[in-house]
Amino acid sequence: MSQIYDDNNIFSKILRGEIPCHRVYEDEMTLAFMDIMPDTRGHVLVIPKCKAVNLADLPLDYGAAVLATAQKVMKAQQKVLGVEGSVALQLNGSSIGQSVFHYHLHLIPTNLYNISRDPAPNKMANHDELAALAKELAHQIHAK
Ligand code: 5GP
Repeated sequence: MSQIYDDNNIFSKILRGEIPCHRVYEDEMTLAFMDIMPDTRGHVLVIPKCKAVNLADLPLDYGAAVLATAQKVMKAQQKVLGVEGSVALQLNGSSIGQSVFHYHLHLIPTNLYNISRDPAPNKMANHDELAALAKELAHQIHAK
């Protein structure tokens, strides 16, 4: 059974502008921003601007929009970070470790598939570095 969407989740607050984020890209249907506890340098999250807990209740038009944004972000990550590889990861349900109950696609730049998301949380990243990375990625996305 699908979980009921809770408007108080942290990503919903980010979408409403109640909590700040280091924005990389935004359009009518999606927002991409830096993960504050990154698995690797340059870790970005892409979220839809709709009330979806996870993949089970994500409307397909928003799914397509999330993937379109993910393609832009991933290409920018490759150029800015100089890392060819990328893990696109998305957890569904608390039993597998989903901790924020608004659909989000992780884009983790890495050439080593040794990502462990459980059990220890990552360290909080330096905000100045996140801001600088977000700016570089945004600039790369909009470069012709
Ligand atoms: P999940 O475990 O649900 O797949 O991933 C949630 C992600 O959200 C984690 O990687 C975590 O670091 C990130 N996160 C949690 N709270 C915040 C926040 O307030 N701001 C940002 N930018 N990322 C967050």
